[in-house]
Amino acid sequence: GGGAGSGGGSRFDLEKETELRFEVEAGERVQLELLSGLAEVFGSELNRNKKYTFGPGSKIAVFTWQGCSLSLSGKTEVAYVSKDTPMLLYLNTHAALEQMRRQAEKDNERGPRVMVVGPTDVGKSTVCRLLLNYAVRLGRRPTLVELDVGQSSVSVPGTMSALYIERPADVEEGFSVQAPLVFHFGSTSPGTNIKLYNKLTSCLAEVFSQRCEVNRKASVGGCIINTCGWVKGSGYQALVHCASAFQVDVVLVLDQERLYNELKRDLPHFVRVVLLPKSGGVVERSKDCRRETRDDKIREYFYGFRGTTFYPHAFDVRFSDVRIYKIGAPSIPDSCLPLGMSQDDTQLKLVPVSPGRDLTHHVLSVSCVEDDAEGGESRSRGILESPVCGFIVVTAVDTQAQVMTVLAPAPRPLPRHTLLIMDIRFIDLK
Ligand code: ATP
Repeated sequence: GGGAGSGGGSRFDLEKETELRFEVEAGERVQLELLSGLAEVFGSELNRNKKYTFGPGSKIAVFTWQGCSLSLSGKTEVAYVSKDTPMLLYLNTHAALEQMRRQAEKDNERGPRVMVVGPTDVGKSTVCRLLLNYAVRLGRRPTLVELDVGQSSVSVPGTMSALYIERPADVEEGFSVQAPLVFHFGSTSPGTNIKLYNKLTSCLAEVFSQRCEVNRKASVGGCIINTCGWVKGSGYQALVHCASAFQVDVVLVLDQERLYNELKRDLPHFVRVVLLPKSGGVVERSKDCRRETRDDKIREYFYGFRGTTFYPHAFDVRFSDVRIYKIGAPSIPDSCLPLGMSQDDTQLKLVPVSPGRDLTHHVLSVSCVEDDAEGGESRSRGILESPVCGFIVVTAVDTQAQVMTVLAPAPRPLPRHTLLIMDIRFIDLK
């Protein structure tokens, strides 16, 4: 052991099947180097004698199957070696999934569809990343389905997405997110609009299945679905819905026996439900920490991430040139609903928003839907079920001049003119 002091690096010699865990202090950076042996960060192999930099707040585990020496420099909050990790169980899980892929290949069937579930802070995203990395390192092409609308690893918060994985995650930056398929949900909790959440889960399942029909590698690779930490009530129902929409074969339950038993009871018998322990290294994150991570994710979308700097554009958009909607009308008591209308209809209704000052700082999704798509009912459904092609933030609204100023990743004009408003706000401090 021994923590990393300021200045020179500390050396850690790891025995096989152990991991170095560290957390980077706020406002600091830490450099990691593999001096000898083999090691990986959440399933991505480290290159020897390359310096990896981790930013403030990063919580990292460097695991070695064979033993290694590492050097760590910079200010860490904690840095210690642990022999007690569930990695062997995770590796066995990967081996079982790989076996299913081999069988699928032989029988001309589809590969495993896996849902990873559990309460917050049990390492769901980390297990997904690990399994995807191990699969892609064997030449598989799995798909990551990201349903965690609070902490998405693929796009900005408030979205649900799918990403076809073609190479291991970058040690510092995670998976390369070229061409993800992203849907607008609009808030950081599924409970805000559970009908929409389930609807979009079905949309993603359908798009994935279509892809599997035309792409054999995608079909054999299967998918790993990351879910939200909300596992009670409607949150639980959403997991059951997801299992059925994706026709999952395997459910990995992290750390919660009750959830494991419930899913065993409620899912069809052919679904393999497996209980796995969480890693002792997983760090609990506070509300503030989560909010910060969300903010970082939006900032990254506009400004890029270390190696790649983006230069976003600011320009004015005339109210008359766009149509802004919110999904879901405020719910009203059942007894007050118009005849023939159900609560479902209100949750999936597109409500036109007339821009006002309160739009300031809101994140808006730019829908891919064609601007001249036909109107009425089918257009609403079209908008709901269309992916988004990007995001903008409203930085100012001038109701007198009937224009709003937006921050966008590309220069004007907007690629499309149907905008969906999120509950999520972003204050651009740059
Ligand atoms: P949530 O559903 O609440 O978003 P989660 O269950 O998906 O969380 P993760 O995001 O996977 O949890 O992990 C939480 C944090 O713990 C992350 O910052 C991750 O990098 C860190 N972490 C995971 N495993 C380890 C480990 N073995 N050692 C140190 N840190 C770890």
